[in-house]
Amino acid sequence: MNESRAARYQRLRRRAEAVSAAAGALLLVACAATPAGEWLAAWARRNAAGVPAPWRAVTEVALFVGLLALALEVLAIPTVLYLAAKRRPSSAGRPTSDSVARPGFEGRGVLSAQLQTAAFGVIAAVIVGMVVHVAATETGGWWWLTTGLTLSVILAAAVRGVSTLIARAGGVQPLGDAGLSARLSAVSESAGVPVAGIFEWRASDDETHSASVTGFGRGRRVLIAPELVRDWSRDEITVVVAHELSHHKHHDLIQSLILDALLMSAALAASDAALWAAGIPASALTALPLIALTASAIWLAATPFRHALSRWQERRADQFALAVTGEADAFAAAVRRVGDRNLIEDRPDRLTRWFFHRHPTIEERLAMAGKR
Ligand SMILES: [Zn+2]
Repeated sequence: MNESRAARYQRLRRRAEAVSAAAGALLLVACAATPAGEWLAAWARRNAAGVPAPWRAVTEVALFVGLLALALEVLAIPTVLYLAAKRRPSSAGRPTSDSVARPGFEGRGVLSAQLQTAAFGVIAAVIVGMVVHVAATETGGWWWLTTGLTLSVILAAAVRGVSTLIARAGGVQPLGDAGLSARLSAVSESAGVPVAGIFEWRASDDETHSASVTGFGRGRRVLIAPELVRDWSRDEITVVVAHELSHHKHHDLIQSLILDALLMSAALAASDAALWAAGIPASALTALPLIALTASAIWLAATPFRHALSRWQERRADQFALAVTGEADAFAAAVRRVGDRNLIEDRPDRLTRWFFHRHPTIEERLAMAGKR
């Protein structure tokens, strides 16, 4: 593959994301430090005035947070469109007639995907805002701890729910390749991670998934993307599935959720200190932008720790996959394929690795398999 193209795309992606995050931060600063926050709060109170008393306060929070989150999502749209344009293979090389004729199509697809993401983001923000508000009114000075714990439980439930949805959502069927199916069952057996069945997605436009293991205990299922079934060798698929089984065997998801819960509570404790310094009660509407700003800053600062845990888990999963299958060549081929498809840089600098990489670099992964 063209390595400089991957490096260039990733550099642009990071820059665009930084610009988008800075725009969001500016909006929050404007709400926290200027009368804009008070105006927004007054608007929310006016519009919630007709709601019966027990529900009025949460409605005010929903309106306040909803409008703010909507503005943040609108600010993110240019970034998403810009990156979608850069991601198209043709945009890096010759301007083909294809790329001239089709941007409208792709733009529309990207836009509708972004609308879904935005709707989800707004709903999530409103839920978080309500949790903060109820915690502040009901648990007073401990609001940051009760909010941190409540949000962690909601996050864990959501992760589990999404996993179940992926497994149940119509589009899966038992893997047609009986030989591969038997082999994957044998691997899961020897890995000590029992699975209920091996499936493939019927169709998928989602190119980010290759294989995943969903569910828990004996209800676990292995899901394989159609692209893998079509184009990848059986050895490569086996190695990738073995890698995913390692995440289950070592409870990597639970570890990550626990670290996230601790960091989230610490970030909210810092928000509490910021509110105290600013003399704003946590239950006030105008507290919310300051809470979001402080907690996001702490969360961002903690990103290297979260990613370091992830890279350690990924390294262990790679080692596990190599040990269970003994397929170093297939492992190297699969790592290169994933790297090409996701435009992953071969040699990111250290800062980039700390803040953006949840996986070891391609070089490190190939070196682990002795294939460099
Ligand atoms: Zn992994």
